[in-house]
Amino acid sequence: MIVRADLHTHSHFSDGQLSPTDLVTAAHQAGVTLFALTDHDTVDGVAEARLQAELLGMPLVNGIELSTQWTRATTKRAWSIHVVGLGMTEMGPESPLGRLLETQKDIRAERARQICAKLEKITKRPAWDAVLAKAGGRPEGITRSHLAQWLMQEGWVTKLQQAFDRFLGEGKPAYVPLSWVTMSEGVAAIRASGGQAVLAHPTKNNLTATALRQLLIDFKAAGGQAVELPLANEPPATRQMMNRLIAQHEFWVSTASDYHGDHQPWLKIGHVPSLADGQRGVWELL
Ligand code: AMP
Ligand code: MN
Ligand code: MN
Ligand code: MN
Repeated sequence: MIVRADLHTHSHFSDGQLSPTDLVTAAHQAGVTLFALTDHDTVDGVAEARLQAELLGMPLVNGIELSTQWTRATTKRAWSIHVVGLGMTEMGPESPLGRLLETQKDIRAERARQICAKLEKITKRPAWDAVLAKAGGRPEGITRSHLAQWLMQEGWVTKLQQAFDRFLGEGKPAYVPLSWVTMSEGVAAIRASGGQAVLAHPTKNNLTATALRQLLIDFKAAGGQAVELPLANEPPATRQMMNRLIAQHEFWVSTASDYHGDHQPWLKIGHVPSLADGQRGVWELL
């Protein structure tokens, strides 16, 4: 049987629009045969996703998308790198991943407060309560997507992308520098909890080709096993470049939509790339 694996998606436990239940249902309807909910820095939605997946008889693997920082040795520049963890066998508060998430929750909540303070100064409007409400009242669940939505609602931007370009992106007035756990710490926690570490959307980080090559070397050295194939909407040249790098570094591959909701119509749930000859799905390790 052909595996249609969508192993990177978001629910309203982070910046996705759907509940875990509705997300799993949508994936099942789209023909997904192996699924993971990978919210940003939380596994709080996984139990609900599991209930629905069992109801529908769709295999689900435990998942998360960790925000990490990677510092390039030659330039000392820090980059935000997302690492997807799949198939963790323990995720409770005492597990290695659970302990790391305690730190990440504090970092995310504190960063949200700092960004809100900057936005309130710029806009002269109260932001915190409205932003918190968008994240379901969980400060540790606030992402820049929620902040972008708030800016749009307040009339400061007309598109979410504009909110990043003008306020929230690196170097912009409401940007708060990185303080995430390091990429190595993130990979180690996933592996120590029984999971596989997957480099998320490698070509979506604005890295130069040279930096990307170094990232792959460092990710592998840190214990990372797999790399996501470029999303289905990325150009063929991007896919060819990644195919070469994946083969060269002997990575397993993962496939994903990075679905957040229908507000991004170019990313459809279950819409995943096919493996090239010789590529092996990370699910063989799960
Ligand atoms: P955070 O983890 O809080 O920094 O938020 C990152 C999330 O914001 C990503 O997972 C995307 O969903 C969204 N995002 C990041 N950059 C952009 C962008 N340039 N345009 C639209 N959404 C973005
Ligand atoms: Mn997101
Ligand atoms: Mn990501
Ligand atoms: Mn994602």
